[in-house]
Parts: sequence; structure tokens; C-alpha cells
Amino acid sequence: ARQFTRPLNDLANQFNTLLSAVAGAERVFDIMDEEEEMKDEGNAVELEKITGDVRFSDVSFSYEEDGDTVNNVSFHASPGETVAFVGPTGAGKTTMINLLSRFYDADSGSILIDGHEIKTIKRESLRKHMAFVLQDSFLFHGTIRENIRYGRLDATDEDVVEAAKLANAHSFIMKSADGYDTFIDADGGGISQGQKQLLSIARAILANPTILILDEATSSIDTVTEIRIQEALQRLMKGRTSFVIAHRLNTIQKADQIIILKDGEIIERGSHTSLLRQDGFYAELYNSQLKKEAMLG
Ligand code: ADP
Repeated sequence: ARQFTRPLNDLANQFNTLLSAVAGAERVFDIMDEEEEMKDEGNAVELEKITGDVRFSDVSFSYEEDGDTVNNVSFHASPGETVAFVGPTGAGKTTMINLLSRFYDADSGSILIDGHEIKTIKRESLRKHMAFVLQDSFLFHGTIRENIRYGRLDATDEDVVEAAKLANAHSFIMKSADGYDTFIDADGGGISQGQKQLLSIARAILANPTILILDEATSSIDTVTEIRIQEALQRLMKGRTSFVIAHRLNTIQKADQIIILKDGEIIERGSHTSLLRQDGFYAELYNSQLKKEAMLG
């Protein structure tokens, strides 16, 4: 399997490193675009507008020679649908996202976006249609305003505030020492994990992607912020094809499709209710999480 740029796991670090190394965010885009441009197939095309129809057909992939990490996976997401990937650590959830965003190319099978094989699309063009809200949101040393604007560099100050409001971030920003001009560190010092997520959501709202990739936070976040995050995410996901790497099952009950992965294969799929009825792996996981929460609560 060929690797083009760094996988999702490293994305946050990559951004932080790049961003602290250069003066402005625009330079980063230039550098990344150049790197990627060189690796596109000669006849790669730009995708102007897409609806967000995503289809995996018999996709297999391995990082190394032996054994498939993703084995013969097929699914279809209609525009605007939410697809959640569930499964134990190492099941291949992140790899699915790495393939969809073309940090790696599938070894066999096809991945189609609006009917276009993604290998025939310019990487820059593909990523323009995607936004990522990850566990370790990549914040850089700069003001809150700059960090949000990173989603769309030509956004006006009004656009930034509008996005922050939709992301439920405006009120905590206004309470910060210098409002939107408050400086944050690369490691997000001074703001909480939950607030980082809200900034990351604001950035994604500003980017206005057709396809959204979410890696849920696993660390504990206070209840009030958690509610704000969930509400902001609902707003962000509306009308976009969304892929969620799920860690806690209570946030994905409304997903159109829940795909259960184990050892790189789909072992179950369906809606929350149909999966509970199937009484398999998902049902067991769900019930054990319920029990755990009951014990904690
Ligand atoms: P999940 O997100 O479900 O925890 P991953 O997709 O991260 O699972 O990993 C699936 C499998 O691929 C695991 O066995 C993991 O060790 C392996 N893997 C993940 N990333 C790499 C990589 N960059 N190189 C080699 N193996 C990897």
C-alpha cells in the first residue's frame, strides 16, 4: 500500500508542527498543496460541486504486506446521511477514514464520491469538500479568531463570529480576556478540551464542507459543555454526509447507518434499533455501556 501524506492519526501533530514553523496559515496551505499536487495522477480532475454520495465497493487495504487491515468492505452513504463506525481498538475505523480522505489508497475495490473514483480526483479538490473535527483538534499559536478562520482563509470577521455562534463557542469566547483576540497556545493551554472542540466545530462550519469527518472525544467533558458540543455538532452535520468514529454509543443512536467493524471486516450494520434487535456485538456493547454508566451515575 502506498502512503501519500500522513494518516489521520498524525494529522493534528502535523498541523501543529507546520503551523508553528511558519508565519501565516496561508503559507501552510501553499506548502501542503504543492506537496499534494506533485503526487496527483496526471489526468486527475477537479470536482467542483458534489452532493456527498459516497460508495465503498469491495475495498481492501493493508498497511503492510501481510494480512488485510480492511477486508472487502462495501457500503453506500446517500447525501446528507450520517454513518458511524463502531468497533474495538484496531478494528479499522480510522483506516476507513484514511482511505476516504486518501491519506492512503485502497489496494483493491473502489471508493466513489458522486460516482467519481477518488483516485481520479485531485487531492486538493477532494479535501476541499471535507472538514475534520478530531479528538485532538489542531489549534495553533494565534488568536481565537485566526484559529477559527483557518477553516476558510478569506472569511470576514463577521463570518467568524457567525460560525462561532452556530458552534456555541461565542459565549465562552466573549468571556475570554481579549474576546476573539485572545491568544491560545499550540497545545490549547488556557482553554478546556470541550472549548477546543467548540472552536474546531466553528472552524468546520466556516469551511462549509459537503463531507464531514468526526472523531469523537473520549476524554471526559463536563455535562454542560457536552450538551453544547452535541447541539453544535447536530447543526454542523445537518445536510452533510458525515462519518463518525464513535467511542460512546449514546451519541450515534440517530445515525442513519451504524457499521460495526472487527478485524477490518463489517460484522454488523443497521440503525440503532435494528442492531439492538439483532442482539449481536452492538447490542452487547450497548448494554454493557449502559450498565457502566448506571454504575457511575
Ligand atoms: P481503529 O481506528 O478501529 O482503532 P485503526 O484503523 O487505527 O483501528 O487500525 C487498524 C489496524 O491497522 C490495527 O491493527 C493497527 O495496528 C494497524 N495500523 C494502523 N495504522 C497503521 C500504520 N500507519 N501502519 C501500520 N499499521 C497500522
